[in-house]
Amino acid sequence: MADGSSKYKPYRSPAGGWGAAAATAKVLMEQSVVGKGSRALLSMNQPGGFKCPSCAFPDATCTRKLEFCENGAKALAHEATKFRVTREFFAKHSVSELMEQSDYWLEMQGRLTEPMRYDAARDHYVPVSWDDAFALIGRHLSALEDPDQAEFYTSGRTANETAFLYSIFVREFGTNNFPDCSNMCHEPTSRGLPHSIGIGKGTVILDDFEHAEAIFLIGHNAGTNAPRMMTPLVEARKRGVPIVAVNPMPERALIRFTEPQDIVQMATFGSTAITSEFVHIRTGGDLALLKGMMKVLFEREAAGETVLDQEFIAEHTEGFAALKADVEAQGWPELVAAAGIDKAQIRRCAEIYIASQATIICYGMGVTQHQQGSQLVQQIANLLLLKGNFGKPGAGISPIRGHSNVQGDRTVGIDEKPGQAYLDKVRDVFGFEPPREHGHHTVESVEAMLAGTAKVFIGLGGNFVRAVPDTDRSYAAMRKLDLTVGIATKLNRGHLVHGKEALILPVVARSERIETVKGEQFVTIEDSMSNVTASRGVLDPASDDLLTETEIVCRMAMATLPHSKVDWASYIEDYDLIRDKIAAVYPALYEGFAERIAAPHGFHLDIPPRRRVWATPNGKANFLVLPGLAVNAPVNDPAMLRLATVRSHDQFNTTIYSYNDRYRGVYGDRMILFMNADDIADRGLEAGAKIALETIGCDGIARRVEGLTIIDYPMSRGSVAGYYPELNPLLPLAFYDRISGCPAAKSIPVRVVASDAAA
Ligand code: SF4
Repeated sequence: MADGSSKYKPYRSPAGGWGAAAATAKVLMEQSVVGKGSRALLSMNQPGGFKCPSCAFPDATCTRKLEFCENGAKALAHEATKFRVTREFFAKHSVSELMEQSDYWLEMQGRLTEPMRYDAARDHYVPVSWDDAFALIGRHLSALEDPDQAEFYTSGRTANETAFLYSIFVREFGTNNFPDCSNMCHEPTSRGLPHSIGIGKGTVILDDFEHAEAIFLIGHNAGTNAPRMMTPLVEARKRGVPIVAVNPMPERALIRFTEPQDIVQMATFGSTAITSEFVHIRTGGDLALLKGMMKVLFEREAAGETVLDQEFIAEHTEGFAALKADVEAQGWPELVAAAGIDKAQIRRCAEIYIASQATIICYGMGVTQHQQGSQLVQQIANLLLLKGNFGKPGAGISPIRGHSNVQGDRTVGIDEKPGQAYLDKVRDVFGFEPPREHGHHTVESVEAMLAGTAKVFIGLGGNFVRAVPDTDRSYAAMRKLDLTVGIATKLNRGHLVHGKEALILPVVARSERIETVKGEQFVTIEDSMSNVTASRGVLDPASDDLLTETEIVCRMAMATLPHSKVDWASYIEDYDLIRDKIAAVYPALYEGFAERIAAPHGFHLDIPPRRRVWATPNGKANFLVLPGLAVNAPVNDPAMLRLATVRSHDQFNTTIYSYNDRYRGVYGDRMILFMNADDIADRGLEAGAKIALETIGCDGIARRVEGLTIIDYPMSRGSVAGYYPELNPLLPLAFYDRISGCPAAKSIPVRVVASDAAA
């Protein structure tokens, strides 16, 4: 690895540990909030405090004094930052000049302070009053011939109360166009899993990790994307629980980790080996691994052993025979070739699974971001069903969500494909007839912009144009719009790639107090494991001219729907009223919301498979067949490599905290390509060489990214990786999972070509 320069040197230390402590101190200093930030961190993820605005990993109930990780600290420091983006800043910098700046530079400028309107004549953002801003939005939305000409985006940072009101406003306005960030990450979980077990969420809760007899981590980098998950994994290893990690990249935290809150380990520079079996799978090879493991189970059962939970299968499932036939039809040579690992390792994984009576399978984007992502998720459910790993302690399926309330937003109505029963409830509770046709998910919303049928984009948080595929085309799409609105805490490129008219509306952040005439208000967040907790900010808002995201939604509605049936003004002042409505629309989940949320650690939403109840059309859990061994369309090009776009360790979604990625040994550079030594040699290249990547396209559009430095990295053969959003220009808009609409960002077919860029 490395080319001898200081920018790429292997990281030999365990993940976590002193490195994490140092990174936490560094970011607080960088953002000039050592005192303020440290005090706030003592309230983060604590009862009575605020929920971390970063990932969605649940809080332990046995509260430790410090309940945050390094990446949570980065998110908080960047939110609490001393730096401000003021009207003077916008007067100094034209939008064209700002477009020349990097995503990192934009992030480092600080918090937005007042509403701004784009002045096309001067190419600058200029101050605008809140009233004028809402009036502009109301005018544009009311002027549309059809409500479906507007796209309403939601970022996973949006709290339940705001997301719920947004879903009601947009439906009263008349559309289900809800592109949201989960469309690009766990949508295959939300759309695929209900066919298997009747719910599009995980069935595992944090306590289950204490009872698991085996844990599988598939296509997920916990050490960076859910760092506090390392704690239950370390505890499991200390109990001797086998952990199997499946990944084309040997992520540092999956190998060795030092628990920063373990004084002994810190004092002695000790650490824990996390993975007992590391499966260096080829990109997309997970299907073959899962089928190979199931094949071993069927072989053992056929040999007269009892490895399947036949009683569970008989009572609770359907589709067993079809699955068995499909799996038994797979030959070992094909399984081994597709997985990119040897038969012995597949058998070892199966043995670990067979020996365990309570298994948890966690997964991330390495499973979902493929053209067959939804059906691949269903194969994980198949494996778990074969041994009855639902409805008992220590067992179940666990999609690890990467954004703090992305699951909650879906639960409270951010859904372009809403169910009819839910729409009936909305009608009954709010007295208007909601639209019944399905709306646009993220890819469809960009397609509508490109086609010119979309006219208005409202972005409730996020950095849409940097998160979506096909960057060049998405920029062009955005610029065709009549109005774009960015509701945000920080300046980002989504505000600079804008429509003919554009607004930036700054909000009160998660860590900041919400005060109304009715007193202090709190919001609620649902984490990856369906635990709903209260979040109360502890800091003063960054500016006196910010509004809460809830007030912004209500005032957009009031400006757009003068004859609305909804009492928007009341919700601005009293969030309990919003929760009462949530309970009214979702009684099965949220009945008694007001009382239950008073509990220090909140409450769990009902997860029927934990009671072995299957909310499927046939009332059973279903074995579902995905024929073959491929999760992406074949590409007939010998030079083809599968590109996975990934986060660095100093990145949260499209927010760049620094140019370092220390666990992978990268410093000061994001234009890099992680590549296997043999793949480098096969192409007559060397580590450190500058290359370009081209997409092996399917639509006649040339896609190319220049100036990437090859890093010799222990990738699995045929697999390469690089960072998004820099490599999103290579991801075709049409390259997505048809069931869910999720872009297949972990398996883009590319080839390495000579770079035109200077070395
Ligand atoms: S694990 Fe996730 S939610 Fe928890 S502190 Fe870290 S980033 Fe925040």
